[in-house]
Amino acid sequence: SKQYLGLDVAPADTAFGLMANFAADDHPKKVSLLAGAYRDEQGNPWVLPSVREAKKRLSEATHEYLGIAGSPGFVKLAKELIFGPISSKLQGNAASIQTVSGTGANHVAATFLAKHLRPSQVFIPSPTWINHKSIWQMAGVPIVEYPYYSSSTKEIDMDGMLHSLEQAKPNDVVIVQACAHNPTGVDLSPAQWKQVAELVQRKKLFTVFDSAYQGFATGDVDGDAWAVRHFAEAVLASETHPGFCVAQSFSKNFGLYGERVGALHLVVPQSLSAEGAQSELSLIARAEYSNPPRYGASIVEAVLGDQALRLQWKADLDTMSSRIHRMRNMLRQKLEDETGQDWSHVGKQIGMFSYTGLTAMHVVRLREEYHIYLLPSGRVSICGLNESNIDYVAQAIGQVLR
Ligand code: PMP
Repeated sequence: SKQYLGLDVAPADTAFGLMANFAADDHPKKVSLLAGAYRDEQGNPWVLPSVREAKKRLSEATHEYLGIAGSPGFVKLAKELIFGPISSKLQGNAASIQTVSGTGANHVAATFLAKHLRPSQVFIPSPTWINHKSIWQMAGVPIVEYPYYSSSTKEIDMDGMLHSLEQAKPNDVVIVQACAHNPTGVDLSPAQWKQVAELVQRKKLFTVFDSAYQGFATGDVDGDAWAVRHFAEAVLASETHPGFCVAQSFSKNFGLYGERVGALHLVVPQSLSAEGAQSELSLIARAEYSNPPRYGASIVEAVLGDQALRLQWKADLDTMSSRIHRMRNMLRQKLEDETGQDWSHVGKQIGMFSYTGLTAMHVVRLREEYHIYLLPSGRVSICGLNESNIDYVAQAIGQVLR
């Protein structure tokens, strides 16, 4: 029959669709390399010990509404986490609000910028997190994909990226990922970040940092924030810097996926006040969800606000990032043993994912013949690997490449 309002049934989200197929697969050796969520050595979700302790302390937590902009204590700690020592210098010219995780921060940023900055285009990396396109489409801003990753060199396509961004007009928006780029695992070097910083300032482009993996990427919260802090310093050093914003997620680095903890920080040119922008961000939040969720933010606030819990959290980040690092290197070694080919890119990539270079056809064979699930792009979530399944996975990849 005809669809209400002529709405065709949209295709299911690829990743969530495959996760449902995996859940329904009853093969004993099945392996999911899909989810962007940490799994421990047994393949189970992991509650960070720092989070477990904070929850105990919050057992008498209130269920009252937060304010529209969220918990002021949480927002201050979130800002300090991303900007580090520069945070105190960003007083009058930064606006920050708590958001519905990283996705919500990206969305509020898109809504705000589409309405007030009025970019003619938004530049997103090719490839990138799938939701960047959806969010900016909803905001009604024309999308340009800039070259980011070269599948032939398996490195950044710096010339392609710079050349594409040179075509942008003043007030156009550039989306970048702060660290552990999803899906490629390939980040810009500090020298490359400096080139991008110079370009956006010269051409008066507005940068949106998507920061979803601070501390999770390498275990080093300051190192993972290097690019963001470099931009913040550029704003402080120049009256003419157009400003930028950061969409900050706490899903991965606190293992708080379902609680939806995030923040948006908008840094405006030094000569201007961010007060009006701060009130406008609150108006957007008020109209969309009234106020952000309390529980997860109070956990993060309890951890970051307590010296001992913060130390435990750093240790937790180490636990997660070093297990991923170990699995990544093991996968590289085993794939080289299986295939006799060079898999050094798998070892060099950063964060939760590896962009293997496997084709959509290989991915179908892995699923149908071996019950191993990964995205059609060849992206694997390293978190899905452990000592019990890594040989099976490496052998299966060896087989489909034969
Ligand atoms: N940005 C990137 C690049 C991501 O990978 C993710 C998580 N997959 C997010 C944002 C947002 O996640 P969340 O909404 O859970 O914070």
